[in-house]
Amino acid sequence: MKKQEIEQIKQLLSTPKKIVIVTHKNPDGDAIGSTLALYHYLIKYNHKTTVILPNDCPSFLKWVPGAETMLIHDYQTDTSNRLIKDAEIVFTLDFNAFHRTGNMETALAESEALKIMIDHHQAPDHYAKFMFSDVNMSSTCEMIYHFIDMLKDTNSIDATIATCIYVGIMTDTGSFKFDCTTSTTHQIVAQLIDKGANNSQIHNNVYDTNSYERLQLLGCALNNLKVLPEYRTAYISLSQDELNKYNYRKGDTEGVVNYGLSLDNVILAAIFIEDQKEGIIKISLRSKGHFSVNEMSRAHFNGGGHTNAAGGRSYLPLKDTIENFISILPSYKKALNNE
Ligand code: 5GP
Ligand code: MN
Repeated sequence: MKKQEIEQIKQLLSTPKKIVIVTHKNPDGDAIGSTLALYHYLIKYNHKTTVILPNDCPSFLKWVPGAETMLIHDYQTDTSNRLIKDAEIVFTLDFNAFHRTGNMETALAESEALKIMIDHHQAPDHYAKFMFSDVNMSSTCEMIYHFIDMLKDTNSIDATIATCIYVGIMTDTGSFKFDCTTSTTHQIVAQLIDKGANNSQIHNNVYDTNSYERLQLLGCALNNLKVLPEYRTAYISLSQDELNKYNYRKGDTEGVVNYGLSLDNVILAAIFIEDQKEGIIKISLRSKGHFSVNEMSRAHFNGGGHTNAAGGRSYLPLKDTIENFISILPSYKKALNNE
């Protein structure tokens, strides 16, 4: 972001404003952490601030400080739309295009508020007056730290804000192990711990609250794991029947795709999850090195994301979706074997 833009934002935030913070559908740790970190920062300066989610977040994120104040557009549609319409500033965090907010797309497109984007996804749309978009960042949460730093205000980061920022850095870096983790990421995390983020407690809250059924579902997923050595690819499928059998709850399949990548010599992993209610197969793709699942998802699966982590969807039945996936692999064989 240019210095001049920072000055303009500083000016803008120097008097209390009506502010709405939004994030993408099916919010993850980075979406919840970044919106709530910014929420706690802005209310310190008496801005009338509301976080609005398109739909609910998984239960392992409900403990994040401030989560109880968030509105859910799916449930509180009229109030949410009114707040978006009346807002002077809308911060859009952790997504690159309005359609990623599902049913909130229209309200955002019609909103005349000044938009500020903070995001690390590829190919961002240009709807925002101020764009802080950087695909090299580990997470939007890391960018929130940089944003506050650019405002020369890191002294205002207290234990609550530090906790929220920590959540998203931890989840988007796979607990500090993915390629996107830099020495700067670690330096920021060190600061957050000094400011009062309880790292082991946060990890426990997010990762160690499994139900027995969730582990059974993981067992089912691992049983379904298939490996295609000639393409250095592994994939997992979960049908709606299997999800029902283990009493699937939102968030239960989070991170399961990564098990494929843990196999020796595998650099592309996919998971296909049937969602009968939405009439789609939800797809998650993960890779190692330079192989871009963002490009693969954009080309074949109506989605996108980052080089090493992308999402998408298919409107074909589960079996056909998997057959389609296998049928496109030959065109990537060279790229997969060159890694
Ligand atoms: P997931 O597999 O966890 O749903 O998504 C992996 C990453 O890709 C996340 O950072 C997510 O925000 C991003 N992503 C998921 N679906 C889409 C999509 O349809 N478009 C774009 N641009 N990014 C996506
Ligand atoms: Mn993110």
